[in-house]
Amino acid sequence: MRTLVTGGAGFMPSHMCDLLLSKGHEVVCVDNLVTGNMDNMAHHMADKDNFTFINHDISKPLFLDEDIDYIFHMASPASPVDYLEFPIQTLKVGALGTYNMLGLAKEKGARILLASTSEVYGDPLVNPQPEEYWGNVNTIGPRGVYDEAKRYAEAITMAYHRYHNIDTRIVRIFNTYGPRMRGNDGRVVPNFVNQALKGEDITVYGDGSQTRSFCYVSDEVEGIYRLMMSDYCDPVNIGNPNEISVLEFAETVIELTGSSSNIIYCDLPQDDPKVRRPDITKAKKLLGWEPKVDLQDGLEKTVEYFRAVNRSD
Ligand code: NAD
Ligand code: UDP
Repeated sequence: MRTLVTGGAGFMPSHMCDLLLSKGHEVVCVDNLVTGNMDNMAHHMADKDNFTFINHDISKPLFLDEDIDYIFHMASPASPVDYLEFPIQTLKVGALGTYNMLGLAKEKGARILLASTSEVYGDPLVNPQPEEYWGNVNTIGPRGVYDEAKRYAEAITMAYHRYHNIDTRIVRIFNTYGPRMRGNDGRVVPNFVNQALKGEDITVYGDGSQTRSFCYVSDEVEGIYRLMMSDYCDPVNIGNPNEISVLEFAETVIELTGSSSNIIYCDLPQDDPKVRRPDITKAKKLLGWEPKVDLQDGLEKTVEYFRAVNRSD
């Protein structure tokens, strides 16, 4: 089995590369490093038989000589800070990048999985969010570049499925965290953990009453892998339904790190979703999947990782 992972030098896709190699796949990783990091790949670079890295922007066509059996299409800036810094690249990789990868899947007869997102639900008016919910997105707001790129990506994926008979999967990923997140990617987990470790103020946006549901990365990639290997073509939520407010999350991080940091309140970014929690009934039923790692254990591993990164800086 030869498997292409787009965005493989990024946080979550690099864990997907690890999982695939452990299951005997030969992995081809393609990334233009816009938000990725070669350090995430370093442990595979010597494995010339099973691992290849290609530095390429997939918003431009990609031609490969070798056969490809599976494509995990996971390339995209993913943190709000990143996609606000790279709005056009985010729209392009969601649209042109997905178009190019579907074309490659068609050419190779490969099965392709699109890494979509809970952001297709926008600022949701139902909680938890089942896959049948159509969402509440401000198309022209600052987050629209990411949300609409992913919604377009889902639409073109289903069009290739229906009109070209391509074997497709769509996963809607909810907030995922763990080792290899970038310390400065602006997301709440690296921000709070690093602020706590450095004794800096913890920056809660708004009053902290907005909620998120955090999934540890090993659970997330296991669920995504199972979806790829299933025969289900409609979107499936993969995430941890354990919902917590941002303020409670800040308190948890302070307690876990034993930090002396204070909580400060900053402006809430525009269109920041007020609630987010996956309904994972489908994933449980179709894939026999549910998350195993609780927030305490996952956070401990993440804190350990950032402690090590900060020591070596
Ligand atoms: P990440 O930024 O760490 O990884 C994304 C990778 O894609 C990076 O290595 C980046 O360099 C690469 N990339 C971006 N544009 C590219 C292009 N045009 N060509 C080639 N490579 C490109 O982000 P992540 O959090 O690991 O997210 C991975 C995927 O999962 C993304 O598609 C994201 O939308 C999706 N997702 C993530 C989360 C989450 O909580 N982490 C939630 C929902 C969806
Ligand atoms: N957040 C925060 N302080 C930070 C970073 C983020 O309060 O330093 C909040 C943010 O406003 C949002 C939640 O934490 O309500 C999750 O933000 P993140 O950027 O991690 O991802 P999102 O779920 O919004 O895509």
